[in-house]
Amino acid sequence: MSEIQCAKCGKTAEMIAENLFLGKLEKEVKKNVCPACWNEWTRPGGAKTMVINEYQLNLGDEGGRETLKKQMRAFFMLPDTDVEFKDYRH
Ligand SMILES: [Zn+2]
Repeated sequence: MSEIQCAKCGKTAEMIAENLFLGKLEKEVKKNVCPACWNEWTRPGGAKTMVINEYQLNLGDEGGRETLKKQMRAFFMLPDTDVEFKDYRH
């Protein structure tokens, strides 16, 4: 068991154990994102769905996946992102 400090909410939490299928980003996300914030991104009607709808992303497309990745980094407040995350759900 290991604990991480979440870059988004600042809380200390148990590291996400399940496979997130993020490829190269998997380690970085697990080290910096708590399960609650991950859920906020992935749950139905969550931030990921909002981004896909708002930017009309085609995830079969390289550019669409790239935009989603950038938005995800921005959402989780990970470094090296040049986009701003805007929550259009409110
Ligand atoms: Zn968090």
